[in-house]
Amino acid sequence: MLIHLLTIHPALCYGPLEEAILGRAREKGLLDIRVVNIRDFAPGRHQITDDYPYGGGVGLVMKPEPIFLAVEHAIRQGPYREVVPPEGLTGPPPGGRPRILLMDPAGRRFDQAYARELAQEEHLIFICGRYEGVDERVRLLVTDAVSIGDYVLTGGELPALVMIDAISRMVPGVLGDQQSAQDDSFATGLLEGPSYTRPPEFRGLRVPEVLLRGDHRAIARWRRKEALRRTRRLRPDLLLTAPLTEEDRQLLAEIEAEEGA
Ligand code: SAM
Repeated sequence: MLIHLLTIHPALCYGPLEEAILGRAREKGLLDIRVVNIRDFAPGRHQITDDYPYGGGVGLVMKPEPIFLAVEHAIRQGPYREVVPPEGLTGPPPGGRPRILLMDPAGRRFDQAYARELAQEEHLIFICGRYEGVDERVRLLVTDAVSIGDYVLTGGELPALVMIDAISRMVPGVLGDQQSAQDDSFATGLLEGPSYTRPPEFRGLRVPEVLLRGDHRAIARWRRKEALRRTRRLRPDLLLTAPLTEEDRQLLAEIEAEEGA
C-alpha cells in the first residue's frame, strides 16, 4: 500500500512511522509511506503556506496552491497517475482513484470498520490541516473528510498517524500473527476479553485456572464468555449489532445469572 502524508511539520511524523511494527513493515516493503512537506510546494522565497482569512476573523488558513501541488505530486507517484485534480476527481475515473483524506474535526468519524475499508485501497493521501484549517477549495480534491473524535487538536498530523497505524495493521503481513488483528476489540463486534502472561501468581493474584490446564476447547469458551462479559459491562451497545451465535446467547444467559441482569 502506498501512503502519502502531506504536512507542514514532517518532523512530527517520522518517529511513529520509523519504529516498531510500522517501521518493520516499511523495511519489508509492505507499506510505502512517504512524508511530503507541503512547504516544498509553496512558491516564493518565504514559501508561505498560510494567510489571513477573507472577511476577517481570528487565525490563519492554509493556502490552496501548495496543497493542490502537493496532492498532484502524490498522485503522480501513485498507481492512478492519469487522475488530474480537481476536474479528474469529480467522478470515479476508470481504474479507480486514490483516496484523498482531509483530517477534519467535522468529518466522518474514524472507527475500525472505516479502517478496514481504507485498508483495501492501493493509495491513500492524507492532508494535515493546521491553524484554522484549509481553504475551502481544497475540499474539491478530497474524497473523505475524517475526524478521529469530538475534540480539536492543533493539527492533522496526530489524526493521520492514528489512522495510518490502525489501517496498516490490517494490511496482510504487517502483523506477525494476523489472527491477533482478527481477535482485536471491535474486529469481532465485541471487546476483546482479558489476557494474562507469566507468572501464574503475582502478589496473590492468580491467573484463571482454565488458562493453565491446556484444554483448548475450554479456553476458547472461556475467552468468548469473558469477551461477552466485558462488552456487556463496558459497551452494551455493541451487543445490539454484534453477530451472536446460539452459544453466545447461552453464555450471556450464564453471565446474567452470575452477575444479575
Ligand atoms: N477551526 C477548525 C474547526 O473548528 O473545525 C479546527 C482547526 S484545528 C486547530 C487544525 C487542524 O487540525 C484541522 O484542520 C485538522 O486537520 C486537524 N484536526 C484537529 N482536530 C481533529 C480531529 N478531531 N480529527 C481530525 N483532524 C483534526
